[in-house]
Amino acid sequence: MTPLHRKCLLGERLTGEVLLDCHAHIGRHADYVIPDGEPEALAAEMRRLNIRGAFLFQFAGVQTGEVAYGNNLVADACRRVPGRFLGLAMVNPLFERDVLPELERCRDLGFVGIKLINRYQGYPDDGPLLDLICGFAHEHRMPILNHSWGAPLEERLRRYPNAQFITGHWDPGRASLVREYNNLWICTCLPIAHEAFERGMRDLRPDRVLWGSDMSDLNFGCGLGPILLARVSDEIKRRVLGLNMRELLQTCGIPEPPPWPT
Ligand SMILES: [Zn+2]
Repeated sequence: MTPLHRKCLLGERLTGEVLLDCHAHIGRHADYVIPDGEPEALAAEMRRLNIRGAFLFQFAGVQTGEVAYGNNLVADACRRVPGRFLGLAMVNPLFERDVLPELERCRDLGFVGIKLINRYQGYPDDGPLLDLICGFAHEHRMPILNHSWGAPLEERLRRYPNAQFITGHWDPGRASLVREYNNLWICTCLPIAHEAFERGMRDLRPDRVLWGSDMSDLNFGCGLGPILLARVSDEIKRRVLGLNMRELLQTCGIPEPPPWPT
């Protein structure tokens, strides 16, 4: 049993570790209730578990056109809990034919990257507006996370090398692309079944996998458990839980959330 495995089984705080979350949400969801979804509640839970910070994006625009409203909720959360949340701006390419003004507005508000979910919004993976958005991420050296990238991913990795592409969800099938392109990162976000993490890590580059919680949709523990308990070295777990995201933040010039005061 490794030290991280043991801490997880005992339910101990991961004190001394670097935990950075690449996939968290804020706000309301149209389909169901989000309990304890206020920024302060989310940050309190992060502090309890020693999670330093998270990429944060909205629920609201997932299936509706309310992306500006949702981005404002993210900006508000970043203001209310300074230094913990790193905002990713969402746009809806189906409704907004001109997506750049909203991306510019969010960038002015301090957002550090972009979140896409065009498949839920009914916009095709190979649509030209996605190229415009990836071009924006490339120009500003931003991370850009999509719920699912679909077939055109490789072409975009090649065309926009300064954008850091993140798969919104666990996708070990991208292992060969990850080996080929330094600007592709795989999020562990759920659903990640028992043993799925260790099976995936047999193929994936360990320096390109990022822990994502899907909080406040899911509890932090849902995603942390399968990683902490996996038969994978603690060195790799530490990379996945925070050290890889630290590298991603440095690549993009994004200030890293500091350790919690003791
Ligand atoms: Zn999510």
